[in-house]
Amino acid sequence: MQELKIYNSLTNKKEVFTPLQEGYVGMYVCGPTVYSNVHLGNVRTFISFDLIYRYLLHLDYKVRYVRNITDAGHLTDDNSEDKISTKARLEKLEPMEIVQKYTVDFHKILQKFNLLSPSIEPTATGHILEQIETINTIMDNGLAYEINGSVYFDVLKYNEKENYGILSKRKIEDAIENTRVLDGQSDKKNPQDFSLWKKAGPEHIQRWNSPWSVGFPGWHLECTVMSTKYLGEQFDIHGGGMDLKFPHHECEIAQSQACNHIAPVNYWMHGNMLTMNGKKMSKSTGNSILPNEIFTGDNEHITKAYSASVARFFMLQAHYRSILDFSNDAILASEKGYNRLMEAIDLLPKLTISDTSTFNVKTWKQKCYDAMNDDFNSPVLISHLFEAVKIINLIKDGKESLTQTDLQEFKKVLKDFIFDVLGLEKTEVGENNSDKLSGVVEILIEMRNHARADKDWALSDKIRDELLALGIQLKDGKEGTSFTVN
Ligand code: AMP
Ligand code: ZN
Repeated sequence: MQELKIYNSLTNKKEVFTPLQEGYVGMYVCGPTVYSNVHLGNVRTFISFDLIYRYLLHLDYKVRYVRNITDAGHLTDDNSEDKISTKARLEKLEPMEIVQKYTVDFHKILQKFNLLSPSIEPTATGHILEQIETINTIMDNGLAYEINGSVYFDVLKYNEKENYGILSKRKIEDAIENTRVLDGQSDKKNPQDFSLWKKAGPEHIQRWNSPWSVGFPGWHLECTVMSTKYLGEQFDIHGGGMDLKFPHHECEIAQSQACNHIAPVNYWMHGNMLTMNGKKMSKSTGNSILPNEIFTGDNEHITKAYSASVARFFMLQAHYRSILDFSNDAILASEKGYNRLMEAIDLLPKLTISDTSTFNVKTWKQKCYDAMNDDFNSPVLISHLFEAVKIINLIKDGKESLTQTDLQEFKKVLKDFIFDVLGLEKTEVGENNSDKLSGVVEILIEMRNHARADKDWALSDKIRDELLALGIQLKDGKEGTSFTVN
């Protein structure tokens, strides 16, 4: 097996990956809070871990990949309300209708981006009993206390023997500063204590019985409970976006230590953020773009539609630990690169074999593996794939040659990395052939313009209506006619 190095956020170092059990990997990734549509930033994080999952599978590890669905307990930024309950009240729906709606959307979107399904996708509401049990254990161990029906984790007491801040490298004094602002009116002993169980106010619709009150579990707790249940008290990899490092993952470590007296995770992995105009993509600030807007081109930040595969390729052209800024120019450049790669793949069956090889396939193959073994460095891998694109074109022109064995190996490695590891898909007619579709619609717009100039309203309306029936909407504006594809 190849030696794989992973950047561990706990030690801030690249480390050789040694799983707890040879040949097996347990991996937990924090899933979405299903109260709204996922934006492209969320998708980036899930694609990053899909790449990691795919590469581990490619290396023949048996991976149990657990990615949860947060369907209760995630509080709003001011800590006053549960995000799902709030949305349910606003939309006049049952909380579980909100959960169902956005879980279905999440699955649909990830499928479009060709993500593999995790092995287990547990929900917080499906594990209330286990969460109550874990709270009991932490209380028995003297590290949680109840006040007015809510249970809080005693961070200061925990920090006497353990290190609260081991992952985020924050000092507890800073945590005190930060939490004081958010939790001004709370009844807990210390402002940095976080809730394990919250008593439900009268307006809170998601609620369960517990020994302390009718209420709901804290957000951090679900990931500790579900990762322990399905992967054990200690497992290999825990992932999520960089923004979850503190407090979410810090609290997960504290809860596990308090409960099981063992560090839960050997390798903590954090994906970096997708930004737009230099700022984190985020639903709440409005600085976001939805996947469906990418597929239709219906967003002011882009000039045309892009396929899911192109958007996936765009993301993989950056290392998962680097910030990636989204812009029309950047994704347009990715589309060109993606097309070049796919055109080269189309040439593969046409390449003829020779008696001698002028290109060293073995060395090139090792470079591809070295890139991925170096903390899943997809941009470096992609640069080697482009080296292969050049070679394919040179073989086609008779300027390089490969023997039958080498050509077979070359094709296999290319396909393994492009389709299995990077998870790219060949463009399909319709959704993905956006360039050609745009070209055809532009021709029709021009014909419609002529019809309008000739006052042939019947023809002009026919073109508009028939395009609309196909889901292509024309919009007449000062600058001319534009269109969106639904
Ligand atoms: P949430 O549904 O808010 O819990 O977020 C789901 C995942 O998306 C988490 O792992 C977040 O860290 C991640 N995430 C949120 N915003 C971004 C962003 N702009 N770029 C990359 N990942 C993000
Ligand atoms: Zn989590």
